[in-house]
Amino acid sequence: MTKRALITGISGQDGAYLAKSLLAKGYEVHGTSRDRETTNFWRLERLGVRGNVTIHSMSITELHSVLHVLKLVQPDEVYNLAGQSSVSLSFEQPLETMTSNVIGTLNLLESMRFFGSRGRLYNAASSESFGDVGGVPAVIGTPFAPRSPYAVAKATAFWEVANYREAYGLHACSGVLFNHESPLRSPRFVTRKIVAAACRIAAGSGETLHLGNIDVQRDWGWAEEYVEAMWRMMQQPEPRDYVIATGVQSSLRDFVREAFACVGLDWQDHVHTDPALFRPSDIASSVGDPRVAHEELGWKATMFMPDVVREMVRHEQAMLAGEEGAPGMPES
Ligand code: NDP
Repeated sequence: MTKRALITGISGQDGAYLAKSLLAKGYEVHGTSRDRETTNFWRLERLGVRGNVTIHSMSITELHSVLHVLKLVQPDEVYNLAGQSSVSLSFEQPLETMTSNVIGTLNLLESMRFFGSRGRLYNAASSESFGDVGGVPAVIGTPFAPRSPYAVAKATAFWEVANYREAYGLHACSGVLFNHESPLRSPRFVTRKIVAAACRIAAGSGETLHLGNIDVQRDWGWAEEYVEAMWRMMQQPEPRDYVIATGVQSSLRDFVREAFACVGLDWQDHVHTDPALFRPSDIASSVGDPRVAHEELGWKATMFMPDVVREMVRHEQAMLAGEEGAPGMPES
């Protein structure tokens, strides 16, 4: 029988890759967006799957809206990817961040409980909740020490899922994913900003790239590989939470160096670091331990930071050159 999946936040980076991956696995794919009439589904279009998914307007912060869509779709698997996902924006919009991630996840859990759903739930948790790990790869069980409104919201949603799994026997799990990038990353994220600037400068824009703290260390992987991990988690007979990461951390400075080197430039000639752009509280070191995911899900990252940067630059350059099929159209 064809399985039916519902992806909240299908217009985002992960939503688009997940939709493509589930369609290839034979799923009937439904997705939600806050307003399907006005949202720009450029990522789904770029991946060539816009016409193969059914999109519903849903406000994840409104219980009735969530109940309505779940009743209509009756999914076998729900992937909860919707919510304000930017750490920096969360300092400016803490309520929106909290509501969309915390109340949104709770509404899905409550709706599934209300319907006595036998479906499964995947929740997009975040490595940001671990805070600064001091170079020690985080595992499930590493204490959360969130340092941004976004990280607090994601930590709360993580425990909501764990609570509903334990209290009501819901087949619900959280994937605590470390940073994962792609050409479909929103231009508001620093990785895409760096890659786009390096490519423009190489094409002669003459601009200077302004960045905040480039000494922070992150564990960067490739988004397409990470959505495969989401699906594998959902196929487990017993639900449990997993850390998904490459296991390798690199500094933002190295990311910048790599991006400019890919276009034949020395980053130091084009980048200015500005303390005014530092976050109120930042994480110096963030790295995850993917061994349990490898042992239990058979999942392992094959793309590491230099590969990620190289692929992002290749796609960005193709887009600048106006090549057919190049992803990376800016947000509307
Ligand atoms: P995106 O920001 O690309 O997509 C998230 C989607 O959620 C958007 O397309 C939007 O859909 C919806 N959304 C955005 N803001 C709100 C809001 N205030 N209220 C309700 N819905 C909103 O995120 P990614 O695809 O990169 O990530 C998917 C999920 O995984 C997110 O929850 C993110 O926090 C989490 N995550 C991501 C990581 C990463 O490195 N990418 C790492 C760890 C966790 P629309 O406008 O159509 O409603």
